[in-house]
Amino acid sequence: MSEKCYLCEAEKFSMEHVPARCFFPEEPEYRKDLIKVPSCQQHNENTSKDDEYVRNIICMSIGNNSVAFKQFIDKVIKSFQHSPALQSQTLQNTRKVYVEGKEGIQHTFAFEIDRNRFDKVMKKIGYALYYHTYNKVWQRGLIVATDCLLNIGLQQDEYGQLISMYRQQIIEPIFDGKNPKVFQYKFQETESEEVILWMKFYEGFEVFIIPNTNTSRPDEI
Ligand SMILES: [Zn+2]
Repeated sequence: MSEKCYLCEAEKFSMEHVPARCFFPEEPEYRKDLIKVPSCQQHNENTSKDDEYVRNIICMSIGNNSVAFKQFIDKVIKSFQHSPALQSQTLQNTRKVYVEGKEGIQHTFAFEIDRNRFDKVMKKIGYALYYHTYNKVWQRGLIVATDCLLNIGLQQDEYGQLISMYRQQIIEPIFDGKNPKVFQYKFQETESEEVILWMKFYEGFEVFIIPNTNTSRPDEI
């Protein structure tokens, strides 16, 4: 395994978990062979607040398994108690909404999220997993696509719609990842010799990372 930074190939300074450890419950059964990648001094900046922010959003989303609920009870509530600022940043403009779920119409809450912050965490995971898988830097800008977040009108954005359509046309792959109840991922090759990363958190929340083929270097993150 190479010892160069996963984002810029500078000398290794430390190793980083991917996804961050806060996504995984503390019990060993959920922390089997966590993935780590080398990062340089510049790119090992502490992003634990951002990681926690995104972890909380995902755990509060509907459609996940019981491990997400456990994380919500064990961690999300605690992280809000430790940091009222994080709580108020997270639960901005909360309102009651009705959504159509697997069990019919459900009453739930919607809140506004910081999409840039969310995307930054997801891109970081994308670059790190690419490096872990292919042993080289993903020399592309990345697009974060998900149909698990809705826009302000409670609709899917363009990429969300694209993902929903895509999912209907393909058979789900066999995912990688040693802790499938927490996190799974799969790189899928496209006809143009690019790869798309399909990630699944808590068996429910899915995020796709798509390369911007007009670019030839990683985004600044
Ligand atoms: Zn670096």
